[in-house]
Amino acid sequence: MFDKILIANRGEIACRVIKTARRMGIKTVAVYSEADAKARHVRLADEAVLIGPAAARESYLVIDRIIAAAKQTGAQAIHPGYGFLSENEDFCEACEREGIVFIGPPVSAIRAMGSKSEAKKLMEAAGVPLTPGYHGDDQTSELLHRQADAIGYPVLIKAAAGGGGKGMRLVEKAEDFIDLLASCKREAASSFGDDHVLVEKYITRPRHIEIQVFGDSHGNVVYLFERDCSVQRRHQKVLEEAPAPGMTPERRAAMGKAAVDAARAVGYVGAGTVEFIANQDGSFYFMEMNTRLQVEHPVTEMITGLDLVEWQLRVAAGEPLPLAQEQLQIRGHALEARIYAEDPAKGFLPSTGRLIHLAPPAEGLHVRVDTGVEEGDEISPHYDPMIAKLIVWDEGGESSRSRALARMLQALADYRVAGVANNIDFLSRLVACPAFAGADLDTGLIEREKSYLFPEDLALPDEVLQIAALAELLREAALAGKRAQRSADAHSPWHARDGWRMNATAHRTLLFRHGEAEHAVEVAYLPGAWRLALGGEGGERRVVEARGELNPRGLLRVELDGTRMDATVIAAAGRRHVFVRGRAWQLAAVDPLHHSGEGGGAEGGLLAPMPGKVIALVAAEGARVEKGAPLLILEAMKMEHTITAPAAGTVKAFRFAVGDQVGDGAELVEFEAAAAA
Ligand code: ADP
Ligand code: ADP
Ligand code: MG
Repeated sequence: MFDKILIANRGEIACRVIKTARRMGIKTVAVYSEADAKARHVRLADEAVLIGPAAARESYLVIDRIIAAAKQTGAQAIHPGYGFLSENEDFCEACEREGIVFIGPPVSAIRAMGSKSEAKKLMEAAGVPLTPGYHGDDQTSELLHRQADAIGYPVLIKAAAGGGGKGMRLVEKAEDFIDLLASCKREAASSFGDDHVLVEKYITRPRHIEIQVFGDSHGNVVYLFERDCSVQRRHQKVLEEAPAPGMTPERRAAMGKAAVDAARAVGYVGAGTVEFIANQDGSFYFMEMNTRLQVEHPVTEMITGLDLVEWQLRVAAGEPLPLAQEQLQIRGHALEARIYAEDPAKGFLPSTGRLIHLAPPAEGLHVRVDTGVEEGDEISPHYDPMIAKLIVWDEGGESSRSRALARMLQALADYRVAGVANNIDFLSRLVACPAFAGADLDTGLIEREKSYLFPEDLALPDEVLQIAALAELLREAALAGKRAQRSADAHSPWHARDGWRMNATAHRTLLFRHGEAEHAVEVAYLPGAWRLALGGEGGERRVVEARGELNPRGLLRVELDGTRMDATVIAAAGRRHVFVRGRAWQLAAVDPLHHSGEGGGAEGGLLAPMPGKVIALVAAEGARVEKGAPLLILEAMKMEHTITAPAAGTVKAFRFAVGDQVGDGAELVEFEAAAAA
C-alpha cells in the first residue's frame, strides 16, 4: 500500500478521499489554488501545495503543476476525484511517465470511453444494448439530418466529448434539426474543444439508472448494484438513490452483466460507472461510461457497507478486489441530495458569499454529510457552488425507501444555512412531493411537478414574526445582562431588562420586512415574558405571550402562549434568518429611525450579485425604463445574469464597459428611480 498520496481536487471530494486515506494510515497531500488557501481540504491534509491562481484553468487543471507537487512531496500516487483531470488522458499519461500511480483506470480505458461515439461503437461490438441512433464519423449536416429522420423525432443531438449535462439539444421536429445541430456544435466546440456529435432517439419519460462497476489488475470485474439518478434538472442530477425503486433481481442481474461486459470490453481497472437510460417498462440502453469515482458514490457505500475509496486505493496498489460478486449484498435504502448555494426562486442562480451560519444535521448511522466547507468559509464564484452532499440510509424491509425518505426530510429540516441562497427548502419539497414519494420517477419529474415545487410566494406565518421578535428581545436582554455584569452597580435601572425606561412607556414596535411587505410587531413587557401583537388597524389583532431562551449559536427555545417549539434565528447585518418547522425564512430588520434610507437602493438590483464579467449593456444611458426592464448582462459562474431596473426610472450611467471584470457588490449602474406617483 502507498505511504503517501496526492489528491488533485478540492471541495467535498478531496475531503472525502483524505478521510479514507487517513483511516488506512496513508499520508495525504492537498493541492490548492490561491482562492482555496484556507479551504477545508487544505486544513485536513497532512501537507498542502499551492498550485496557482483561483481560475481552475491556471491551477487545478494544470497537469505540470500537479505532477511537480507530487514529486516535491514524494507522493507515490494521485487520486483525481471527479471533474477536473479525472478523465483526462494526458494527465493519466503524465503520471505514468513520471512513475506516479494514477488512482483510476488505464489510459486506454479513459480514451475508449472519452468519446460517447467511440464508446457506443465498442459497446455495440460487446453486445451491450444501445440507444438507437447514429454514432458514425460522417459529420456532414445532410447525413446527420437524414439519420435523424430515419431514427424518428424527437431526437437528441449530443456532443461526443460532452459531460456534465452540457452539449445536448433536443430536436422535436425535422424543421428544427439544422439550427439545433449548429448550436450544439458551437457549444461542443467551445466547451469541449471538439464539435463531433452523435444523434440518438430521445426516450420519453426515461429513467437514468447506472451501475457501479469495479475491476482489478488481476482480471476480476464486479458490479456493486445500481443507483437511480432520474431526478435531474437540465440533465444534471439532483437526487440519487440506491437501490432503484421497482428493480427486479432479474433486471438487476441483466444490467449488472451488461455493465461488467462494458467494463471488460475496455480492460477496466478501478471504479467506474456505466450509465443506462431505461424505459418505464424496464428495457434499458447503454448511454455512457464515467471512468472515475462518481459524485453519488456514497449511496452505493451506504447500501453495501463498503468504502469505495478504500477499494480504489487497494486496486491501484495492485491488490485484488476485496470481495467477489457472490459476497456483495444490498442492505436497506439510501438517498443523496446535493445541497447547493443557488436560488431556486431565481432560476437556480448560483449564490456566492460567506457561510455566516452553517449547521448540518448530526451525523450517525442514518445520516452522512460530505462537505468541503465549514461555517465562516466562502462559496466563491470560481468553482462548483456545492455546499455538501447529504446522504441518508435506513432499512425496514418493504418500507426501507419510505423510512429513508423520512430520514431525508428530517435531515433537511435540521440543515441550517445562512449567508448564501440555497436549495434546501426546494429539496424538502422535492422529497415530499407525491411523485417522488410514490417512486413515479423519470427525468422530467421536476418539470412535471413545477407547481408543487415552486409554490407562489408563501404568506409569512405569524409564528415566524413572533419568533423573530422574540429573538430580538432575548438578544437585547442578554446584552443588557452582560453590561450589567460588567458594571459596578448591577441594580442600576439603566440595565433593566423589563422594558422599564425613564420617561417612557413599556411599549415599543419592532419592524420586519419580508419581500416587499413590512410587518410591525407591537411589544409589551411583562415579567419574564413579552406580549406580542400583530395586525390591527382594520385587520384582526393577534396577541400572544412569548418567552424563551436563546443560545449564542442562535438556537431558540420558544414558548408562544404555552406552546413549546425549537427554532434558530441568525442575525447577520440587517437580515434575520428564521428556521422553524423545517423551513427557512428571511426577514430584514427595519430600524425605524433610519426608515427613509431603507427599502430603496440597498435592495435594488444595481449592485453586482457576484463577481463576474459585463457582457452586454442592454439599456441606453439616459433612457427612461419601466420596473424590471433589463439593463445589463453579467456573466458569472458560467451563467448569464440579467440586472434589471428595481423601479421605473432613468439609467444615469453605466459604471463599467462590456468586457470589464467586476467585483462582488460593485455598483454597476447609476440609476435614478422616478418619484413615486
Ligand atoms: P456525476 O454523474 O458524477 O454527477 P457529472 O458528469 O454530472 O457526473 O459530473 C461530475 C462532476 O464533474 C461535476 O462536479 C461536474 O460539474 C464536473 N464535470 C463533468 N463534466 C464536466 C465538463 N465537461 N465541464 C465541467 N465540469 C464537468
Ligand atoms: P453527460 O455526459 O452530460 O452526463 P449523458 O449522456 O450521461 O451526458 O446524459 C445526461 C442526461 O441526459 C441523462 O442522465 C438523461 O437524463 C438525459 N439523456 C441522455 N440521453 C438521452 C436520451 N437518448 N433520451 C432521453 N434523455 C437522455
Ligand atoms: Mg452522464
